Amino acid sequence: MSAKILIVEDEPAIQELLAFNVVQAGFRALRAEDAESAWLQIKQDLPDLILLDWMLPNTSGPLLARQFRSDARTSNIPIIMLTARGEEHDKILGLESGADDYITKPFSPRELMARIRAMLRRHTPAIPDETIAMGGLELSPVSHRVRANDINIELGPTEFRLLYFFMSHAERVYSRSQLLNHVWGTQAFIEERTVDVHIRRLRKALEAAGKDHLIQTVRGSGYRFSV
Ligand code: CA
Repeated sequence: MSAKILIVEDEPAIQELLAFNVVQAGFRALRAEDAESAWLQIKQDLPDLILLDWMLPNTSGPLLARQFRSDARTSNIPIIMLTARGEEHDKILGLESGADDYITKPFSPRELMARIRAMLRRHTPAIPDETIAMGGLELSPVSHRVRANDINIELGPTEFRLLYFFMSHAERVYSRSQLLNHVWGTQAFIEERTVDVHIRRLRKALEAAGKDHLIQTVRGSGYRFSV
């Protein structure tokens, strides 16, 4: 079955262009023009990926991304943010709100489709099904759950992959570019500093269970998971 892409975009011409390209690329396009219709679509048919416009009527893309991340139905769905803004600050803000990737308008449909494919590949990985337990954390690849001290830790899909990688490669230091290769894949169009944003999000999520110290910064080298 082909992957379903939910397009949340209020400008009809851009929504049309996106849907056209999504269908051309062999995916199914679900459409919404605001937050309300996005939730309606999600209720009817859960998408595999969300393309989310930055500026929406009555809300913003980053705000909606936060809501997607905090809802159990949508917390694992990768989000690509679309925006007319290209400033570094907005980029970071978009990622911090829960987006997994970011593309600036006007975008090349080819690049966007390549990013969608890369993102879908990353999120349908061959992950073995044994639970990994380490440092008081329990990660179950099958149920996509992380628990510590009887607390469920809510993670977005990228943070989950990142933590999974760290836990299966504990006590080793990885540079940002190595993490990009292992966690995002060599097809990723992501800048190295994006890694820092996701590390920050991961630590923040682990903080709820007092486990953020497990992700260590190694100055001048990168990051390490250490118990
Ligand atoms: Ca818009």
